[in-house]
Amino acid sequence: MRALYFCFAALFFIMFPDGMAAEKPFSFKDTPGKLPKEVVPTDYSIRIVPNIEKLTFTGKETVKLNVRSPVHQLVLNALELEIIEASLDGKALSRSAINIAKEKEVLTLALPSELASGDHKLALSFSGKINQQGQGLFYMRYQEQGSPAAARKKIMLGTQFEATDARRFFPCWDEPGFRARFQSTVVVPGNWLAVSNMPVESEKKIAGGKEVHFAATPPMSSYLNVLVAGELDLIESRSGPTQIRVIATKGKAELGRYALEATAQILQYYNDYFGVPYPLPKLDQIALPGGFGGAMENWGGITYYESALLFDPKNSSAETKQIIYEVLAHEMAHQWFGDLVTMAWWDNLWLNEGFASWMGTKCTAHFNPQWEVWFRRSVPRDPTRRAGIAKEAAMEGDARSTTHPIQQRVATEAEANSAFDDITYKKGQSFLRMLESFLGEDVFRDGIRRYIAAHKYSNATTADLWDALSEASKKPIGEIAAGWTEQPGFPVVKVKREGDEKVQLTQERFTVNFKNAPPLEWKIPLTYSVVGEAPETLLMTSKLESLQNIPGDRALKLNVNGAGNYRVEYDAPSWKLLLEAVPKLGVEDRVNLLSDAWALVQADRAPVALYFGLVEKLPASTELPEREQIINVLDLINRLLGSPEREKFQRYAQSLLRPTFETLGWEPKEGEPPTAGNLRASLINALGDLNDPEIIAGCRERFQKYLANPASLTPDLRPSVLAVIGHYADEKTWSKLHELGLKTTSIEEKQNYYSALAKAINPKLVKKTLPIALTDELPTSRAVFLVPLVARESGHLEIAWKFAKENMKALLAKTDAAGANRYAPSLFTFFSDDSRADELKSYAKTNLPPASAPEVAKVVDEVQFRAEFKKRLAPQLNTWIRHKGL
Ligand SMILES: [Zn+2]
Repeated sequence: MRALYFCFAALFFIMFPDGMAAEKPFSFKDTPGKLPKEVVPTDYSIRIVPNIEKLTFTGKETVKLNVRSPVHQLVLNALELEIIEASLDGKALSRSAINIAKEKEVLTLALPSELASGDHKLALSFSGKINQQGQGLFYMRYQEQGSPAAARKKIMLGTQFEATDARRFFPCWDEPGFRARFQSTVVVPGNWLAVSNMPVESEKKIAGGKEVHFAATPPMSSYLNVLVAGELDLIESRSGPTQIRVIATKGKAELGRYALEATAQILQYYNDYFGVPYPLPKLDQIALPGGFGGAMENWGGITYYESALLFDPKNSSAETKQIIYEVLAHEMAHQWFGDLVTMAWWDNLWLNEGFASWMGTKCTAHFNPQWEVWFRRSVPRDPTRRAGIAKEAAMEGDARSTTHPIQQRVATEAEANSAFDDITYKKGQSFLRMLESFLGEDVFRDGIRRYIAAHKYSNATTADLWDALSEASKKPIGEIAAGWTEQPGFPVVKVKREGDEKVQLTQERFTVNFKNAPPLEWKIPLTYSVVGEAPETLLMTSKLESLQNIPGDRALKLNVNGAGNYRVEYDAPSWKLLLEAVPKLGVEDRVNLLSDAWALVQADRAPVALYFGLVEKLPASTELPEREQIINVLDLINRLLGSPEREKFQRYAQSLLRPTFETLGWEPKEGEPPTAGNLRASLINALGDLNDPEIIAGCRERFQKYLANPASLTPDLRPSVLAVIGHYADEKTWSKLHELGLKTTSIEEKQNYYSALAKAINPKLVKKTLPIALTDELPTSRAVFLVPLVARESGHLEIAWKFAKENMKALLAKTDAAGANRYAPSLFTFFSDDSRADELKSYAKTNLPPASAPEVAKVVDEVQFRAEFKKRLAPQLNTWIRHKGL
């Protein structure tokens, strides 16, 4: 490795491009936000009494305040709450003093006289509602394990507060910088279990149930509170001083065994990595049978959508197991990075999410190298999207005109909600990985330890993280990072052979469907190697750079193992040498070449022949990440093309995938690698979609056997076989799948059956599937996604969109604010005609809130890109396939 030296004097002369200003370390008083900073809450004591019949609740709270300079009013957050009484220091405030500004989500209490600096006590009583969707306090109806489908559904309660919904549960200073201790009490039916951030301190019987009193939390942000209550079971163990539990609805706790074991393993790893042991006495992993679709890192009480936590060894797939591990590792990383140290404001959300995504993947890869998580798929946040490599998903979005910097201004609640996107999570993760591979694992970890130690029980900004990493590495991290976090996009490095063993490198912004993009420059931590030799590094700090002593007859590969967040475009002589050297490259580098080649095709920097030329040069292999990259590209093209191009393409695509499937076969073989099951499932799915008659017949045969004896079909293959069955279903088969979906109490199995229904291509069946989204057959958070799933999988975009338009109000009632902004646009994503882009624009103008504008813009761009790409791709493919003689 070439050592890199930096001149620290240069730090004083860093110039930031226009619009980029160096961020400052955390300071409470300078942190953005709406609430005045003169009054700071230190301790909340909250008592909540839910009314399950009426789906409402009443609450009382007292808040200790530290008034830093005299004020005439108190300003805090409240939303959809009614304030019944308010008093300050024991004196009641008049009704007219209480004012809620609905639009601003702010509660103002006008004070009769100036409130002096010092300690004061605010008391409020209030009431609110229990929501259907995962916002604030919400309810879930579910079928209990072992109960027949016809039985009355059970009900339970949960909360979801991030980003700005704690204010729907109790009036509070609901901005991340206002840390306080929270002590809560809840009244629930006598046979319920109630869970919150901290252990139960006391419990007593009262009329109509019991009152559960929880210990107070350490100082934390309001959005990290949690309350879950219902007829629940649990399993538990200990890891050092920490009690760990998995909690689920009655009859399902034992399915948490895998998660419980993984929790202990991950906890130990993080206790060591962060250098500060997990600070709370207990850690609960809680499975929710609906309400929301993901997972939430509430401190000490993490909530998960059930199928992201529970693993049934008899019926769950290997894919489910991996998702559980990854989600656990991500949410547990937040217990430090997010909960113990919290971003100052939502403009630094990437600090939380990019970091947890990176750390979670690192930890998953450490204990499960066989899953190849770095360059394979990541957990899709949106169930209508196929899983893709995290870095690739981020780069695809980041190449477009609709992208934004990782760090972006956030002024409103709506903006805070829409900050949860691929750029925040995946570009954040990808940049951190590039930085770690550049600095080295130990130096990077030392920086993280410094950061956690310096900011625990407090907040931080990105600048604080760069300071800690600069101290640890003695390198100006802020200077390298600025281009990646404070400006949008990323570079492509062009490689040109110049003779005399010299290679010229130039960088420019890489874009797709983005004419006249503003040119930008990056400080790129480059890695490269002459194939077969040790990798080297180079910090590319200007537009032009050159490498010396690269033999003219040897292949040169940049971006070693694909760990860097940039593309590489090779000139013809370099590419030719690389193609010849492909068999000598590791799978990481092969996947990186495939991804870059495909991106160059999308960007119109290369013809499709570049990509398929590479695919055909690859040695026969059953490497999962490599085959998955190819499957994803074939799937995209298959959905884009119309008849008759599609049929010709399908035959070509089958010829590419078939040999791998024949090597693997239908049945698992003894001693095969653990990823063989995933690849077999992916291939069945893909070949099914590509209309392969043998695969379809094979699936039908296995489905009949499965009906007679479910154990005859290995859980790994069930989602794929059911998907193919659903795709080509007749009325009778559709009804059978539906019946099975209704009957099962497993959320994972339910999802398999309903996803299969969504794939039906018969338009009559499409019309039967869509109305299920309005029923309570599926958890609310999943029910609404049935419509985009039908749009994507059945190919009947028009029918799905018409149905959604007619039922939009009922559909949106089932989703939260962020989901609502994305919902209508998401139905257009798979169109590929310019007229549809115009239709979405005009629909948005009259029907969608202004907060959905970024999503609308993204989808309009996507539709326009697909329209252009389809036109460009079809003749190029024709030529390529004809040349193959197919
Ligand atoms: Zn997260």
